[in-house]
Amino acid sequence: MRIVLLGAPGAGKGTHCKRIADRYGLVHLSSGDILRRERAGGTELGKKAQSYMDAGALVPDDLIVEMMTGAIRQAAAGYVLDGFPRTVNQADVLDQALAAQGTGIDMILNLRVDDSVVVERITGRRSCPQCGAVYHVKNMPPKVADVCDRDGTPLVQRPDDTEEVVRHRLETYYRQTEPVVDYYRAGHAVDDIDANGDADVVAEVIFRRVDPPAKKGPGRRGKK
Ligand code: AMP
Repeated sequence: MRIVLLGAPGAGKGTHCKRIADRYGLVHLSSGDILRRERAGGTELGKKAQSYMDAGALVPDDLIVEMMTGAIRQAAAGYVLDGFPRTVNQADVLDQALAAQGTGIDMILNLRVDDSVVVERITGRRSCPQCGAVYHVKNMPPKVADVCDRDGTPLVQRPDDTEEVVRHRLETYYRQTEPVVDYYRAGHAVDDIDANGDADVVAEVIFRRVDPPAKKGPGRRGKK
């Protein structure tokens, strides 16, 4: 199964992609996580991406497309895309790359969330630089303040999670990424999901959409 999860920053794409990947045995391909690994490894790509990411701007399409089409090729058995595509051009190039591989996207989910919720979620987000675990100062605090539950590493705030940068990331989203939803609507079914609520509730809604419809047993035949 090949799934694309769309939504503004802070809509819960990372959280729900992880849950979807675990439940359906898919590879979670997060463009943001891949870029952060490239930066941590000091690669050429990481260095090129750094200034764009810290300013809350998009990394140029050519860099992203090459990185993501490579990752997708290696995960051909099934994946869930998180943070990609983020421009109409990226979506278009992805469609062409998948067509050339003789595949396509099976499902597109669009997480919808209010701006005020985005700002509250992102500015409260803290993560472990060691293992990648993600917390929220109010909604999902670690057991000991500012320390990772798993390995005791001090938690950090991503440089692009400050309120000023979040506002810029939202502007970038409306200008460059929201048109991707319309691009997809023109040729695919896009499932809109209200993602303002609790993550467990949103996950249940997502699973109901993704789960194959239950087979009807013979006992149901003829019933209304
Ligand atoms: P994320 O973790 O998905 O919020 O991504 C963090 C940052 O990485 C974004 O603000 C962009 O600077 C960059 N980024 C991630 N995915 C993409 C993409 N598909 N196109 C361009 N830039 C991206």
